[in-house]
Parts: sequence; structure tokens; C-alpha cells
Amino acid sequence: MRIRFLGTGGAEGIPAMACGCAHCTRARQEGGRLIRRRSAVLFSLPGYELLLDTPPDIKAQLETSGIREINGIYITHEHHDHIAGLEEFLYWREGVDLFVEPGLYRKLIRENWGKRLPEIVFHMDIHPGIGVCFNNFSIVPFEVRHAVPCFGLELNEDHLRVVHGADSDIRFSNYARSVIAGTDLLILNTPFFESREEESHLSVQEAMALKEELGIKRLVLTHFNHFNRPHDELVEYFSRFEGITAAYDGLCIEF
Ligand SMILES: [Zn+2]
Ligand SMILES: [Zn+2]
Repeated sequence: MRIRFLGTGGAEGIPAMACGCAHCTRARQEGGRLIRRRSAVLFSLPGYELLLDTPPDIKAQLETSGIREINGIYITHEHHDHIAGLEEFLYWREGVDLFVEPGLYRKLIRENWGKRLPEIVFHMDIHPGIGVCFNNFSIVPFEVRHAVPCFGLELNEDHLRVVHGADSDIRFSNYARSVIAGTDLLILNTPFFESREEESHLSVQEAMALKEELGIKRLVLTHFNHFNRPHDELVEYFSRFEGITAAYDGLCIEF
């Protein structure tokens, strides 16, 4: 399995529009890994390229990464930073599967794309806890808690188990906790560094505590926003701990 992080920013990306904070200012001046486009991940599975989420930046992300093959798209939830780029696939040359929860698919048709959506994609219903197995791998969606219905994804290939937690808050169901426990690699979205009251996302601190509690072998954090620490400071901070990586746009992990 190969995992490519095409974008690693929170909802507003870094730099955020018209923001003059120290983090955004540094990102504009220095560029490089301080720049974060909105979050998307490409999983290269046996004979199948699966894109998780279609942020508004998706066209530029695919171009920058030289990606010309996508067989399926998995949508975690309806927030703008995760689906706004779906319409770009009107211009995709090949057919593409769209794994999306049935309620959200109906909503996308009703509110965004009308009859054009079935012209863009082959719809594949997903149901939490029910795996889809083909080509010697499986994907199993599971529900997480967020401001709207939201679905993480477990990916299994041979003995390797990778889990993407999507935009989850810290209150995982007992089922979700058992899915996450002991994974070889867990990807979590952590816009903030410290925990916040009534937040519908995880913080870096909460994700690190979860890693210890559930015996995660390797933790990769992504979906950082400009309130979080800049990339170089995150790298320095995580160097004090085992098995924690701050993702950056372009990070590739191969097994
Ligand atoms: Zn998000
Ligand atoms: Zn969200």
C-alpha cells in the first residue's frame, strides 16, 4: 500500500485567506512545507487508486503530484473542505467510483449537482461496519462523531491495517475504538494543538493520548490549521516521541 498526502490543511488551508497571523505570514514568505492545501489522501491499493475526499484544491493537487489515475473516490462527509472539488471530476476522462453514504449522495444530488452527478461517477453506497472486498484488499467505513454525519475508513491489505479517522471529535464510539485499536497506521485530523471545549475535531494532544491508550503503532497527523504550530515546530515536537509523524503536502508513505 502506498499513501500519498495531497493536502494536509484544515478547512481554511494555510495561509488562510487574508490572514496576517504569524503562521500565515511565515507560510507566504517561506513556502515549502508551511503551505497546506485542504486535506486529501490517495491510497494506492492493489490495482486500485482510491482518493479520500475532494477538497476545493483537488485539481491543483492532482496536477502537482502528477496523478493521472484514480479509480475510486471515498467521501468522508459533506463539509466544503472535503467535497467542494468533486465537480472537477466532470472533466475527468475515465469513469470513477464514488463511495459515499446514501443519505449524503441524495443530498449532493438535491443540493449541488442534480442529475449531473451520476454522469460524473458510478455511485457505490457505503454502510458503516460493512466492508467492500475486492482485488485482495478491503475497505470498511465506520461512523465518527462530527458536526455532520462523518465516516472514517479502515483499509486492509494482507496483514496490514490502516485507519483514517476523518474529521472526528474525541468521543469515539466503542465500535470505532475497537476498529482503531492496534492499527499499523492511524491517520487523524488535528486542526488544533491543544484541546478545546465543544470542538468537533481532535487536537494533537488528544490524538497522542489516543495513540498510547489504543496501542497504535504509527500515528500520522494531518488537517492542521493556522492556529496549530507551523510544520517545522511540529516536527521538532514529535521528535521527542515514538511513531508520530506530522504530514505535509506531498508526504508519501509506502509499505
Ligand atoms: Zn475538514
Ligand atoms: Zn468537517
